[in-house]
Amino acid sequence: MISIIQTRILSTCSRLLLTQEVLSQTYNNGRRSFHRDITSNQTFSLNSIYSLTTKSSIQSTFAKRNVASLGKTQGRLVILGSGWAGYKLIQDIDTKHYEVIVVSPRNYFVFTPLLASSSVGTLEFRCILEPVRKYSPKIQFYQAYADNIDLKQKIIHCTSNLERSKDKFLLNYDTLVIAVGANSNTFGIKGVGENALFLKDVSDARRIRQRVIECFEHASQPNITKQEAFGLLHFAVVGGGPTGIEFSAELHDFITEDMARLYPNLINLVTMTVYDIAPQILGSFDQSLREFATKKFTRKGIKIRTGRRVKEVSERKLIVEEDGEVPYGMLVWATGLTDNPLTRSMSNQVVKDQSAKRLLTDGFLRVLDKKIFQPIDNVYALGDCASIQDYDLPATAQVANQKAVYLRNVLTQIAKNGSIINIKPFKFFNLGSMAYIGKKEAVIDMTPVSNKAKESGRLAWIFWRSAYFTMTVSLRNKMLIPMYWVLTWLFGRDISRF
Ligand SMILES: Cc1cc2nc3c(=O)[nH]c(=O)nc-3n(C[C@H](O)[C@H](O)[C@H](O)COP(=O)(O)OP(=O)(O)OC[C@H]3O[C@@H](n4cnc5c(N)ncnc54)[C@H](O)[C@@H]3O)c2cc1C
Repeated sequence: MISIIQTRILSTCSRLLLTQEVLSQTYNNGRRSFHRDITSNQTFSLNSIYSLTTKSSIQSTFAKRNVASLGKTQGRLVILGSGWAGYKLIQDIDTKHYEVIVVSPRNYFVFTPLLASSSVGTLEFRCILEPVRKYSPKIQFYQAYADNIDLKQKIIHCTSNLERSKDKFLLNYDTLVIAVGANSNTFGIKGVGENALFLKDVSDARRIRQRVIECFEHASQPNITKQEAFGLLHFAVVGGGPTGIEFSAELHDFITEDMARLYPNLINLVTMTVYDIAPQILGSFDQSLREFATKKFTRKGIKIRTGRRVKEVSERKLIVEEDGEVPYGMLVWATGLTDNPLTRSMSNQVVKDQSAKRLLTDGFLRVLDKKIFQPIDNVYALGDCASIQDYDLPATAQVANQKAVYLRNVLTQIAKNGSIINIKPFKFFNLGSMAYIGKKEAVIDMTPVSNKAKESGRLAWIFWRSAYFTMTVSLRNKMLIPMYWVLTWLFGRDISRF
């Protein structure tokens, strides 16, 4: 018995000594080292050097590995992005075996399906945000952009995204998950980037809300002619997919329910138009639902201009090939997606899907090496920035969410069994789609689940709200969201501009 206790004490002491030695090597020598984890007998690289003091990298520092991480059998898992894919992945991730670090330029997750509601004040911005750090204290977070990745050296080059710091630093990893999403696609059309507003983040929603109110305030000023007011109160949306349609519906509710009461003299001058190059809006929905939404929009006075090509955008007008110059007060661009600067910077190292420029992965979500067309060990990609080879899926939260749950299981299995031998490739279970179309009506298309499962109108709206309410993450937001729905219903939306 005594000898067992002695052995335990000796083993603990040697562990402590080893840890201390590794740390002192790391801090003092500032060079790459390897640590054999005595609890698991697995080797992983311990190349996270606290501070590189060489002249050439004066601004670059390696993020220090926490002392606690030294006993993690799987080493460091870095997740890039805190969106649907990244945020879902960190929920219940195995922090016993992985030292988890999240890198994202924003320190929160945005519940995008309710972003359109918050852009017009139906919901307050904070109701749709979840802070990353709050989720789990065991997860380390750096508010930064990953600028590029050296897949050979397993090093990520990052830039802080803080108001007072744009410092550069380096971060190494043992396992990497790329979930950086995608950017709005302007298709290279002149003036879109400078003059249109987008709807991707909460800062975009804030800009939109301010701009709508500004247009009304501007149009109400005494020096503005009726013609100018017409231009200022033309709200144009480019993109007839679910995002463009939901936003138009929310904006129409806002204008007819709140602005009409507050600016009664201007309301007859307001016009709204949805442009799309496709022949119909909501192209991914069942035909009868598309027709239902089109009829409802037309009845509300929202013009639908399908088969239209926007050629150029300037500060006050857009040029449409078929309609000529059209003045506008606010233009929201809600068309397709294009690659994120990080994934663009990886073009020489990895295989990309040619049309959407997404990172191509195998069925286990492993990124493919460009030279050998084989999966790169321990490098995964998911969400809007990735697509599976020969298995094209839409860029939706539903796909990102399911892939994140799948990857979480893969990583847990690897930690437990050391391989993915018993794991099947990812399979998407399509639950269908829904879209709010205004005035407490929605369309729901669940035909992928069952042929007859589609609904439109008020019942669909109740389902739409219940589904998104159920999906919100924290108890706090589960309380705030219905509270704001009731407040908006009772007192209208807030129109202060600050
Ligand atoms: C208004 C709107 C409504 C939507 N509604 C629905 C819906 O109802 N249903 C549905 O299924 N889908 C919906 N979507 C689509 C859905 O939001 C996306 O498919 C989903 O967000 C993709 O998840 P993601 O994690 O890949 O990307 P994102 O959620 O976009 O997250 C990307 C993350 O990466 C971070 N990032 C970016 N660059 C870097 C970098 N260089 N380094 C580190 N981090 C970086 C970003 O800050 C962000 O945290 C909607 C989208 C929008 C815009």
